[in-house]
Amino acid sequence: MALLSEYDVIVVGAGIAGIAAAVKAGRSGVSVLLVEQYGFVGGMSTAGMVSPFMKHQVQGEVLVRGVFEDIEREMRKQHGMIDNGFFANSFRSASFHLLKESGCTLLLHSIISGVTKNNTTIESISIFTSGREITIKGKVFIDTSGDAQLLFLGNLPWVKGDEKTGLLQALTLFFRMGNIDLVKATEYAKNNKNEFFDWMDYNFNLTKIISVAGYFSSVKKAIQEQRLSPEVQYIFFTTLPESGEGSFNTSNILELDGSSSIDLTKAELAGRKQVHQVVALLKNEIPGFEHSYLIETAPQVGVRETRRAVGDYAVTGDDIKHGNKFRDAVARGCYGIDIHGQKDESSRMEHLAEGDYYEIPLRALLVQNSTNVLAAGRCISSTREGHSALRIQPTSSATGEACGALAALSVKSHRAVREIEYNTVRDLISHNISKK
Ligand SMILES: Cc1cc2nc3c(=O)[nH]c(=O)nc-3n(C[C@H](O)[C@H](O)[C@H](O)COP(=O)(O)OP(=O)(O)OC[C@H]3O[C@@H](n4cnc5c(N)ncnc54)[C@H](O)[C@@H]3O)c2cc1C
Repeated sequence: MALLSEYDVIVVGAGIAGIAAAVKAGRSGVSVLLVEQYGFVGGMSTAGMVSPFMKHQVQGEVLVRGVFEDIEREMRKQHGMIDNGFFANSFRSASFHLLKESGCTLLLHSIISGVTKNNTTIESISIFTSGREITIKGKVFIDTSGDAQLLFLGNLPWVKGDEKTGLLQALTLFFRMGNIDLVKATEYAKNNKNEFFDWMDYNFNLTKIISVAGYFSSVKKAIQEQRLSPEVQYIFFTTLPESGEGSFNTSNILELDGSSSIDLTKAELAGRKQVHQVVALLKNEIPGFEHSYLIETAPQVGVRETRRAVGDYAVTGDDIKHGNKFRDAVARGCYGIDIHGQKDESSRMEHLAEGDYYEIPLRALLVQNSTNVLAAGRCISSTREGHSALRIQPTSSATGEACGALAALSVKSHRAVREIEYNTVRDLISHNISKK
């Protein structure tokens, strides 16, 4: 693969948002470079091993389709999905397939390290690759780095954390266990409902994905006996396609900033310590886990929240709660406000009214003080509350896909991203927006 010195569209970061952006732009017939620091794609969906996909359906209507459904379809072909739960490995190979098919150029093991601007226009990025720095020019740039890394390096506007306190959501290192006796584990849950969250559905069907969250007394006792970090609050797992496997969203790492390498190093160490403590607790004390074992911890700690772009519009908590709709909608979601609190901050989960959904305006993709920069996924322009809802994987895919469509239209028409008529973008992503 020979790299070109210039691409029409450059996408920074190959998480689900970057994959969707690159695939959409590639399919629209422009040249695309997708740059990723790891040796694989998927970001939080693979490096973070986050499964399952959060809710994105209302009253039987699927709100996110397009590239997201293509990824799901490819994973199902590989038997890598059970309902909305999936294997990271399947996500990686499904995405590689789609990226290849779309004709975009993927550059792995490469980290973007600098940005060259002419006033408000990004002209090129520097990429540290193969032990040296190279420069590649682009016409439109999309920040899907999760951490607004392109904006940070390009001195473009971003914000971080809670508007008043600056707090960031807790970090979590996912892990996967095998050989869980799910019949026994679910029987235990049914017979000890006071030990589990009241939202749990006890009509367990083991041919479907199941969620188990709680084990409150066991966790409390282990903390009292100093066998478990006091940061852990409960044990939560959902099942994976292979019978007897679970994906654990359980460790809880506080007071660290996921955009700092020093803090991330601490988090990796703290997370792994917590995982081994939880695994020991499960194996020694919890019915159904006697013969289970730890398969793997995620390659990197899961980061929920760092920097967010400052765009022409910031999606707010009220937009989410009230199910606000916009004249320039490019995506929809129905997941509510979900803040995993810090030490002195309670966690919050606020659902939308049953059957309601919100829209995300095109203006939230347009980065202020720039003429050719878009941001999507985890670093989309939003308030902290808005972000806590928009950050989930299906919505990140939809906002990424909208950026890919807008970028391609801008390149093809030789006009700046703000000059593109909304209707032309809408026509390319109509599967992801409400019928007006
Ligand atoms: C613990 C946890 C639990 C979650 N639970 C769920 C859940 O149950 N369901 C759900 O749907 N969502 C969940 N989420 C949210 C969801 O996983 C993420 O918000 C979403 O996957 C973000 O996608 P993204 O593409 O915007 O960013 P990311 O997945 O973060 O991707 C960003 C990519 O950019 C790359 N990158 C960053 N900087 C550079 C650079 N300088 N150069 C090159 N590459 C770079 C990264 O390596 C990464 O691949 C959870 C998240 C966490 C952390």
